[in-house]
Amino acid sequence: MPTNKIIPYEMLYEALCTTKELVEGGMASGELLVLKSFLKHITTAVKKYIDDAEQGYPIIAHHFAFPTEIFHCFEFVPVVVEGIPYILSALLPEGAESFYDIADSFGHPYHTCTSQKGTMGMTMDGLFHFDIISSPTSPCDNTVASYPIIKEFYNKDIPFILADMPYYRDDRSYKYYGKELKITIEEIGKKIGQEPDYEKLRKAVDLNNEALKYITEINELKKAVPNPIESMLCPLMTAVLAFIPGQVERVLFFKEVLEIAKKRVKNGERAHEGEEKIRTVWPYMSIFFDIGFCEWLDRQLGMTMLFDIFNYLFFDPVDTSKGVDKIFQGLAKQSMNYPMVRQSATFSDDLLDDFVFLSKEYKADCAIFTAHIGCKQSVSVIQLLREALRDELGIPLLSIDLDIGDARYMSIQTIKKEISNFVKTLM
Ligand code: SF4
Repeated sequence: MPTNKIIPYEMLYEALCTTKELVEGGMASGELLVLKSFLKHITTAVKKYIDDAEQGYPIIAHHFAFPTEIFHCFEFVPVVVEGIPYILSALLPEGAESFYDIADSFGHPYHTCTSQKGTMGMTMDGLFHFDIISSPTSPCDNTVASYPIIKEFYNKDIPFILADMPYYRDDRSYKYYGKELKITIEEIGKKIGQEPDYEKLRKAVDLNNEALKYITEINELKKAVPNPIESMLCPLMTAVLAFIPGQVERVLFFKEVLEIAKKRVKNGERAHEGEEKIRTVWPYMSIFFDIGFCEWLDRQLGMTMLFDIFNYLFFDPVDTSKGVDKIFQGLAKQSMNYPMVRQSATFSDDLLDDFVFLSKEYKADCAIFTAHIGCKQSVSVIQLLREALRDELGIPLLSIDLDIGDARYMSIQTIKKEISNFVKTLM
């Protein structure tokens, strides 16, 4: 077994350190505050994963739809399968394209979701060596089809543990899925030879609860006009949710962002000079492959990205005072209503309702839908959402065909041109 089992995390750590050095050294002290806070805390978290991997802790590759806190029962290193290609696509000059190509050249369909395809390519290239692979049976066909392939290549003998996520969102289902999550943990414990420590789980959930409190307050402040927070928070928050579960760095990041937002609201300020001209919701994902894109929106267009699908959490904190089974049940409810899982795993009603609600509450002028080529079920909803936003609120929706983690499918120049042309129709 190789000693270095998470090479992409080392690549990520180096890219984070370089970016941090550039941002801290090259930007004025009052600029890019949210990015600076992000880089500080995620770098610490990723370094810890690398150190833990060196200590020999088992590597658990898991789907983002799991509440990662559940694995905090163990001494472990998390690899969030869908997160690593996209964060590398933002931070590496050459992106994560070479990894998509490895999977494509094997014969994997080019039009599948790059989130899983990237990790598939890294695994085929021998850069990851997992001890456990685990996923829920949701939220999409890409998930169900991709994980067995990730297991097949270089991970043939590695346990692959599935948690059965039911279709309906009701108390009976939350109870069932809570049991599934607990069984998943017990199975993993047997495979890695560790007894689950549920006190550690409770502490991780408490930290996430604290972070959730700050997220809720930040989202409330975004109702202010102008929006006090830079658009870049949207993709950065996605990364924090994925990469820093149940840890103090997650709490510190959102606490710092909240302080920044409070100060700006008090002074009636934006993050940037100039007027906030257009407020937008992004009903699917931000664009990950270009780290400067959100700054272009804010600075060049005066356009605020209020929310993408990952930024408004439609769930409550988990009550940790009523025992382990209730914690699992609470986590089940959260994870079945986790961003993208909530809107992708069942009917499209949730996606329509959520973004009509957010557009109305936050006074959006328009919506921009990133029609991610891999995500067939979300793309099928675009016209319905366009009609809902038009009929309910009278606002338009622009959809852009792209791959949010692959710069080659639709270039950033063309994306900017499409948005600029769309903006002209709004003025
Ligand atoms: S973007 Fe779509 S296809 Fe990709 S993981 Fe999310 S739901 Fe699945």
